[in-house]
Amino acid sequence: MPDLNETAGRAAHHGSMPTLPPDPHRLPPPGDWFASDAARHLLDRPKHCPMCAASLERGLVSEWWSGSDRVFLTWCPACRWTGNVVLFDRAVIEEPEH
Ligand SMILES: [Zn+2]
Repeated sequence: MPDLNETAGRAAHHGSMPTLPPDPHRLPPPGDWFASDAARHLLDRPKHCPMCAASLERGLVSEWWSGSDRVFLTWCPACRWTGNVVLFDRAVIEEPEH
């Protein structure tokens, strides 16, 4: 079993990370190019459905990137909602003159 704190600590481009929750899936070996992204995914992925709040433990959460945005393709096994949950650092919002 890899030391999760050591694996997460290698994620220099993500900064320091909190303690990871138990992982039912095996993380890549520490030092692999994808190890820090897999650890970050485990911490940041949606845990509950945005539509019905059911656990996504048995659902699907797959991550991809668009520029600096992190996009989580999400499927809920309870209500079958499917959609993207997007994490971003900054939002640009336009407000019409009033
Ligand atoms: Zn749902």
